[in-house]
Amino acid sequence: MKLHIGDQIIVTVGKDKGRKGKVEKVFPETDKVRVAGLNVYKKHVKSYMGQKGGIVERFRPLPVSNVMLVCPECGKATRVGYRFDKIGSKDRICKACNAIIKIEKENKK
Ligand SMILES: [Zn+2]
Repeated sequence: MKLHIGDQIIVTVGKDKGRKGKVEKVFPETDKVRVAGLNVYKKHVKSYMGQKGGIVERFRPLPVSNVMLVCPECGKATRVGYRFDKIGSKDRICKACNAIIKIEKENKK
C-alpha cells in the first residue's frame, strides 16, 4: 500500500476528478482509500426508535488507482518512489522533486 492515513491526494478519475483531500482510512485488502469530503453519497435514513430520519452523507472508499499522492514539498500529483537510507529504513520519495514524503501514520496490518 503506497498511501497512508494523513496523505494528501488528488482524484484523477470520475466525478470528483481534480479534487483534493486527506486520506482518513485505508483498505489494503481492497486497495481502496477513504478520503474525507470525497465520493460522497447521500443516504436516506428512516426515523427509528426516536432517532430523527433524514439524509446523511457518507464517504465511499475510492480505488487507489483513481487517486494520486500530492507531494507536500512541491505540491505536484506524483508517483511514489522508495529509497533506503543509511540505516536501511525505507523512505517514500516524490518522483518529481525527490523529497521524502513522511508517513504520518503507519497503516495497521
Ligand atoms: Zn515533490
